[in-house]
Amino acid sequence: MSARRSSRPVPVKYWSFAGIMLTYWCSARCASCYLCCGPDRSEWMEVELALRLWRELVEASPHGCKVHISGGEPFGDWDRLIGLCTAAQSEGLGPPAKIETSAFWATDEQVVRLRVGALDAAGMTKLVISTDPYHQQFIPIERARLAARVARDVLGADRLQVRWRDWLENGFDTAALDESERAEVFAKYAIGRRDRYNGRAAALLGPTQQQKPVSDFADSRCDGALLRSKHVHIGPDGRIIPGTCGGIVLGSVSEGTVGDLWRRLEADRARRPVVGRLAAHGPVGLLAEAESLGFAPRAGYAGKCHLCWDIRSFLSSKDLYRDELGPAWMYGPAALAAPGQKNE
Ligand code: SF4
Ligand code: SF4
Repeated sequence: MSARRSSRPVPVKYWSFAGIMLTYWCSARCASCYLCCGPDRSEWMEVELALRLWRELVEASPHGCKVHISGGEPFGDWDRLIGLCTAAQSEGLGPPAKIETSAFWATDEQVVRLRVGALDAAGMTKLVISTDPYHQQFIPIERARLAARVARDVLGADRLQVRWRDWLENGFDTAALDESERAEVFAKYAIGRRDRYNGRAAALLGPTQQQKPVSDFADSRCDGALLRSKHVHIGPDGRIIPGTCGGIVLGSVSEGTVGDLWRRLEADRARRPVVGRLAAHGPVGLLAEAESLGFAPRAGYAGKCHLCWDIRSFLSSKDLYRDELGPAWMYGPAALAAPGQKNE
């Protein structure tokens, strides 16, 4: 398979930075999770499928594709994670540009050293550790600190990324707070950050931020995020998701190769009822139809993605646009509910 090569500008950028999401499972259930991952999810991508997609991603883009591995929590199945990295290396697919983790598994220095060393040997370029008040509702911050210290030791500082370093250095376990104290810390931490107000972040954090009227989001098109960012994720179920837009589907690898799906999107993007309208007009482009079906917007939203999520949730609840809004469970109340209890 080869991507079409032409000198004319392409309306859909090649997917040259792609995340293979090994799973939606996660030990945590962060309020900030724009993909609604959690301990109740059980989807895992088979190594064979991950390798096929990796191959196709690299082949489909004329300049190659940097592939990273994420979730959910890819360290939830260590054998699968290291098996994928090792097989990709044997096939000469290029190193995983990064592997993302919450470090929930970093309970013992020896284990961390062994795993980071094994990923280093399998070619991993960078380890990314996520830490913030939302993660620390579930994962003791000492695990993130241990993983960061050992990874710096094994990989060097340049190959370790911490999101966010301010919290790694000065943060604490928000599990120890009562609910109202935690809500206050969460709301404060979200101010001014580029949180993606989709999924659980829309449901739990969006309403805690300054609310702006829908009119503020008129003419705020989304072609950049949907078609021109070069960044996508592929979920464990094979759905291709724009890099930062949880719950939107650009195609499913059960229907063709990555290159086929990219070409199909380029050809028919403007006719797609969700992606086409969002690209051209932003979430306001979906509003009139939703209102005609009974949707009532809130008085305000934290940002256009918060509004987008609200409208898309409504359309999903009407069982509309299943090809473009999914997976369906992500829009359901169980996925969006506040964490009921500390998990581990
Ligand atoms: S944001 Fe939290 S719940 Fe979501 S995948 Fe990361 S650690 Fe898991
Ligand atoms: S408004 Fe919707 S389509 Fe646009 S960037 Fe946000 S989530 Fe993506």
